[in-house]
Amino acid sequence: MPELPEVETVRRILKPQLMGRRIVTVSVDRPEIVAHPSADEFIRAVAGTTVTDMRRRGKFLSLVLSDGGSIWLHLRMTGALLVTPANLPPEKHTHLIFGLDDGKELRFSDQRRFGRFWYLAAGEEDRYTGAGKLGPEPDTVTAALLEERLGKKRRMIKDCLLDQSLIAGIGNIHGDEILYLAGIAPDRPAESLSGPEWEKLAEAIPDELGTATARLAMTPEEYLAGRGREYRDEPYFQAYGREGKPCLRCGTAIRRITVAGRGSSYCPKCQK
Ligand SMILES: [Zn+2]
Repeated sequence: MPELPEVETVRRILKPQLMGRRIVTVSVDRPEIVAHPSADEFIRAVAGTTVTDMRRRGKFLSLVLSDGGSIWLHLRMTGALLVTPANLPPEKHTHLIFGLDDGKELRFSDQRRFGRFWYLAAGEEDRYTGAGKLGPEPDTVTAALLEERLGKKRRMIKDCLLDQSLIAGIGNIHGDEILYLAGIAPDRPAESLSGPEWEKLAEAIPDELGTATARLAMTPEEYLAGRGREYRDEPYFQAYGREGKPCLRCGTAIRRITVAGRGSSYCPKCQK
């Protein structure tokens, strides 16, 4: 599943291509991917509007529209968003196409069809996307804020990091990397973390996500060539996916355990 760095990368690449573009046509071949309102109402509302901004909140993307409304979307497991020339053969599983006034298309493909779109009219209360329940953005966290939000939880710290209502945007991959950077074992109860450990975590969260986002930077051409999916840059991971391999700091074999149902890789020596 794309995490914050991947979603932010999509935003940075697509925003310049979408700003000021009028959406001329909208076609939806799988009505269920429009979660609100109905697919027909979505098409009617969005067609004819102009994109005035593209934003990200947690793992959600939104397109701000000239009618004061906004399109929200979540890529979930396998969703991919591309701006393409109209004559490019569509990806398999392309379910939604916005025809733009410059002749290009904004296309959404999604093999597993968990990705969702919403349209919120100007002033409409968001009772639909779930974005309103998100915790703070990771680049705004401080040790005090983390301790306040997580410090009384008995749940394991990795589980807390993945909870979008506590902090937005962290997923399984970067959760492992953050805890490696902070030197904290993933199965520690959050309530057991010390003041200095909250400090380390508050540093590691924006560090990891900022570095990952910078590493993913690519041109629109590279992004299109990778079909909006091949933006994984795995070789730099220090913990995630490295079970059995030597820790890059101390040489101890990276261990894999299950935390709240998710595989978690960590160094049993460097992470206490
Ligand atoms: Zn180690």
